[in-house]
Amino acid sequence: MTSIDFKKDKPRCACGIFGIYEHTQASLLTYYGLHALQHRGQEASGIVSHYFDKEKKKHHFNTTKGMGLVTDVFKDYTVIQEQLVGSSSIGHNRYSTSGSANNRLNIQPFVVNYRDGNLAIAHNGNLTNFRKLRSELQNEGTIFQTTSDSEIILHLIARSKKTKQIEQIQDALEQIEGAFSLLILTDTALIATRDIYGFRPLALGKKDDSYVVASESCAFDIMDAQYIRDIEPGEILVIENNISIKKKPQSLHISKQTPTHHHCIFEYIYFSRPDSQIFGESVDKVRRKLGKGLAQEAPVAQEDDTKTIVISVPDSSNTAALGYVSESNKKGIRAKLEIGLIRNHYVGRTFIQPEQAQREMKVKTKYSTVKGVLKGRRVIVVDDSIVRGTTSKQLIKLLKEAQPKEIHFRITSPPIVNSCHYGMDFPNKKDLIACQCDGDIEKMRQEFGVDSLHFLSMEKMLESVPRNEKKNYCTACFGGAYPTQIESTLNKDELEV
Ligand code: SF4
Repeated sequence: MTSIDFKKDKPRCACGIFGIYEHTQASLLTYYGLHALQHRGQEASGIVSHYFDKEKKKHHFNTTKGMGLVTDVFKDYTVIQEQLVGSSSIGHNRYSTSGSANNRLNIQPFVVNYRDGNLAIAHNGNLTNFRKLRSELQNEGTIFQTTSDSEIILHLIARSKKTKQIEQIQDALEQIEGAFSLLILTDTALIATRDIYGFRPLALGKKDDSYVVASESCAFDIMDAQYIRDIEPGEILVIENNISIKKKPQSLHISKQTPTHHHCIFEYIYFSRPDSQIFGESVDKVRRKLGKGLAQEAPVAQEDDTKTIVISVPDSSNTAALGYVSESNKKGIRAKLEIGLIRNHYVGRTFIQPEQAQREMKVKTKYSTVKGVLKGRRVIVVDDSIVRGTTSKQLIKLLKEAQPKEIHFRITSPPIVNSCHYGMDFPNKKDLIACQCDGDIEKMRQEFGVDSLHFLSMEKMLESVPRNEKKNYCTACFGGAYPTQIESTLNKDELEV
């Protein structure tokens, strides 16, 4: 039986992480934090809390994990109230980019107990030297419990010859390469760290008298926490016992290597929520600029009296469509923003979809058109990215049923021509429509059956994001320049038995 998952026609994000140190409602706030970060991973979710038994002078790490959405895994409130007791906790929303999605052992946070106490870890990103490190560790006798790259970090900490725990963590972090935004909960600290490139976002905030750390600042807004700053690339922030909010946590560094700042530009284009602030900038602001840049590069001429409307492919393109309209109007083009596509947010899993007709059905369960808005109009459709192109084709077909006069397709990123090795799940190159069409935009236009097609140029995309000598971006999936060395790609299920 085959199932076609249209959500996979967008790159999928690797995970969302949240942590809080010393708060009376630690696990409840972690639950809310994960809820706000649900868009970063929907396969599984988990929370680990730390409880210190003063009488017995014993540290306990309590864990609840499961497959599904945050609301599925934690549907029983007593789990938060009675099981996840304690004053500190970390949580994780998973979308698998390393390690099989179906292996329950891969659900994070991972917890171990070693010679220096308990350790829990929540990881967003992908390690690029995973294969090498795993085989070295296995040759030395390490037994792996999971097929996830994140487990390696725990083994490297536990096997470190350093005496102090923070040095063991530093030692481990210096051996791993690639993308990692990490939260490590120990018996005495919450540690937040990012790789030296800063691929994935990680923000520090404050809730009441406690520090909070999250993949995106939208997790702070849900609980009225205040954003303080980003965890810097290459930084190890140690939030320890007895440090009050007035005293800053200790800030260490991964290695003497200078951080090079290669933030994932796709976080701005598609992954992050528009109400988040990432890499020091509002996602909403960047998406508006992307839309404006698109209107500057590819305005749609009004050659007759046909009314021009701009619609977005909801929800991730809504803000960019606003930018496109405002810039078009500035250029004297009368274009009106309309809601022409409605997204059904309650799709969930539908029946098995083996045939073409069923595939169309799947798009129709997810999107519907407002026919009166589209009929007889010149329609400019704004979308953020195209991966396989399967959903786009079906979507254009659906729009055509509403009988618009013309359809002009505008994309707020360049064509995707490469895989991501830093925590985003793209299909193989052969499945990318831009590769199938040899990068020929006219060929793609014909595939989609639209009147015109334009992808934002690399230059305009980079003009839309904040840049300075410290702030650079990874654009490898568009241009192929990977900021790190890449070992041969590991299939997600390769290690499964
Ligand atoms: Fe982001 Fe693309 Fe770079 Fe991956 S390859 S980190 S998706 S910009």
